[in-house]
Amino acid sequence: MNQPATDTKRWHKRHPFLFAIVVALLPIALASIAAERFGSWAHVLTLTQSLGLWSVAPVTISRWLYVLLFSGVLLLLIVVLLVLGVATFSHGAAMPAHLPYTQDNFLNLVWRWRWANHGPADCQPFCPVCDLQIVPVFDSGSIMGGTSSVSYSCNQCQKTWHVATYTNPSQVQHDVSLLVERNVRQAQFNPSKTP
Ligand SMILES: [Zn+2]
Repeated sequence: MNQPATDTKRWHKRHPFLFAIVVALLPIALASIAAERFGSWAHVLTLTQSLGLWSVAPVTISRWLYVLLFSGVLLLLIVVLLVLGVATFSHGAAMPAHLPYTQDNFLNLVWRWRWANHGPADCQPFCPVCDLQIVPVFDSGSIMGGTSSVSYSCNQCQKTWHVATYTNPSQVQHDVSLLVERNVRQAQFNPSKTP
């Protein structure tokens, strides 16, 4: 749990501009290959034109096949709508239960957060002794010794807590939000802890 979260985003999400260029160039590249294969650009245009004409030309099929295809499409549409409806309903029903859960103890500290659309947000640490909000201090000395940690100090109690194996406070916040989400999933939270 103390390991830094890995970025699992795919490259096209990390480089949307590059992805857009590749997508834009792909048809041109395909057309160029086609031009190479079929002799000239004019030929490719003619082929594209006849493909267009072919796709809009009327076609005769038996009524039973038409009814079968039409029912299949209708059935698929109904199933998709049902699945979407069930997903929306169950999501909506589950939401209010965990909304009062905005405080818990993780990593020897008290944490408070608010609920955003995607989950817990703004996870803030508080002193477990006097409940004063505390601020993270990056401990640059400890990383030299092989173990990195993020330290939290309370100005009132003059106490410091070290959260080991982390190299920056946002990693701690991220992992706390994962713990919150896990507790909600497993319904382990205690709403009476909420201030
Ligand atoms: Zn304190």
